Amino acid sequence: MNEKYDIIIIGSGIGGLMSAFVLSKHGYNVCVLEKNSKLGGTLQAYKRNGRMLGTGMHYIGSLDEGQMMHNIFNYFGLFNDLQYQRLNDDGFDVFNVGGKEFKFPMGMNNYRKSLVQQFPNEEEAINQYISGLLSTVKEQDVYSLQEPSEGKNSESNFLSTNAWDYISSLTNNPDLRNAMAALNFVYAGRKEVTPMYNHALINYYFISSAYRIVGNTQLLADKLASQIRNFGGTILNRQQVETFVFNDKTLTGVKTTSGETFFADSFISNAHPTTTMSWIPEGKIKKTYRKRLTGLKDTLSAFSLHLILKPGTVKYRNFNYNFYKTDNVWYASYYDEKKWPEHYFVHWPADILNPEFVDNVTILTHMKYEEVEKWKDLPIKRRGEEYEQFKKEKAEKLLNLAAQQFPEFKENLETYYAATPLSFKDYLGTPTGSMYGTERNYQRPYDSYISHKTKIPNLFLTGQNLNLHGMLGVSLSSLITSGEFVGLKKLLKEVRETF
Ligand SMILES: Cc1cc2nc3c(=O)[nH]c(=O)nc-3n(C[C@H](O)[C@H](O)[C@H](O)COP(=O)(O)OP(=O)(O)OC[C@H]3O[C@@H](n4cnc5c(N)ncnc54)[C@H](O)[C@@H]3O)c2cc1C
Repeated sequence: MNEKYDIIIIGSGIGGLMSAFVLSKHGYNVCVLEKNSKLGGTLQAYKRNGRMLGTGMHYIGSLDEGQMMHNIFNYFGLFNDLQYQRLNDDGFDVFNVGGKEFKFPMGMNNYRKSLVQQFPNEEEAINQYISGLLSTVKEQDVYSLQEPSEGKNSESNFLSTNAWDYISSLTNNPDLRNAMAALNFVYAGRKEVTPMYNHALINYYFISSAYRIVGNTQLLADKLASQIRNFGGTILNRQQVETFVFNDKTLTGVKTTSGETFFADSFISNAHPTTTMSWIPEGKIKKTYRKRLTGLKDTLSAFSLHLILKPGTVKYRNFNYNFYKTDNVWYASYYDEKKWPEHYFVHWPADILNPEFVDNVTILTHMKYEEVEKWKDLPIKRRGEEYEQFKKEKAEKLLNLAAQQFPEFKENLETYYAATPLSFKDYLGTPTGSMYGTERNYQRPYDSYISHKTKIPNLFLTGQNLNLHGMLGVSLSSLITSGEFVGLKKLLKEVRETF
């Protein structure tokens, strides 16, 4: 029989690794089980043609000294041996919306000034908008690393306010509405459902300051893993959990596809809630709870194109570029497969050894899972000619669109690698390859935010499906989940006081 652990954590995404870090640091005998050979979930990077290509995460907000993510990265030891590239102050994200170009400068005041400069007749709407962002963030105690006051977040108006309705109530100017919502892609905003809460927190997070990881995001996962091992934790890869083991009503272990069973007192799942529910045999939880957690809609998936470029030919750019063919930044909700792609996001990786040029870039856009679903049961990497042809056609369409603004991408191309929603499904274990996990809906504010506690007393959840996605949301949810064991108040104080 395998050793019995205090806590088994299923999944080594940021949520799983950060929880394991906190708990092993506090003396718990922790074991992380990861289905893939690489750790990190959406932080994974893989080598192709000598280049390290990332799966997801491209940039991180609020990393300036004194800002909340700086505090969190300090606590998790993520400044030791790792470097970060601060993006351009005057425009960390550049947008081209229906031919009109504008930038998001860093700092709330600069952002406000730049909006007023572009829309001088809309100063009142802009001021109101900024105060809406600030008051939403202020309402969230955890954002300032304070323990949530009892019942406070449930009183938040912004959970039940629609972001689009809020923005359009302030101004009729379509360009200003677009400018306010332009970061839409990084939270997969949908006009009909996205709460002001998600919009405000993500905007505030990036506008405060925006950084790239120098190198690749795998470095973050590996750094967390080495510290967990130093604290005495165990991390096992290629261990895909397939079911929970119960002794009568008590959850006692997990069984993996390798045939091994691992035992612990408590369990934390970093996997998608639908996946987690699939491990619980019938009769162990109420049907209504299972239905609620498996019935949540997912955010849209993506198509990602990694271009391998001839070294020394394509210049590094210190910003992200967001292109919208039409004048509608909410287009993803209605995208037309026949007209695809009408949007893209470009990321130039920061490289310390060669800061002037890049030898690869990533181009990302939305794609529905339904477009590739028919190939889902075919084996990975052997999905057949039709699927390969689909990928090729999509890759070339996306490359051609991006090459209209950046002809150097096509002129200096060595080769490319593409990832579809099926790749995200396979490598992240999400049922529909969604980019940001389950979708939050302002009409169902309490149903679409999941608690870290489950109906099984020794089973907890963590990761992007709980509160918010991204480095911001996931690191906060990992603190909340591990706070359940070590005391949230004490843990947040520890994080605040780490220098
Ligand atoms: C394309 C893309 C771009 C993004 N860009 C950014 C960005 O620029 N900035 C930002 O802040 N956020 C970004 N995000 C969002 C961010 O990356 C995610 O919200 C975050 O990484 C999710 O972390 P997680 O720990 O919740 O889950 P995941 O990273 O999904 O990790 C879950 C882990 O669980 C494992 N697992 C699943 N099932 C099992 C099983 N049965 N047994 C064992 N292990 C299992 C998976 O293999 C995986 O390792 C992006 C996401 C995507 C997809």
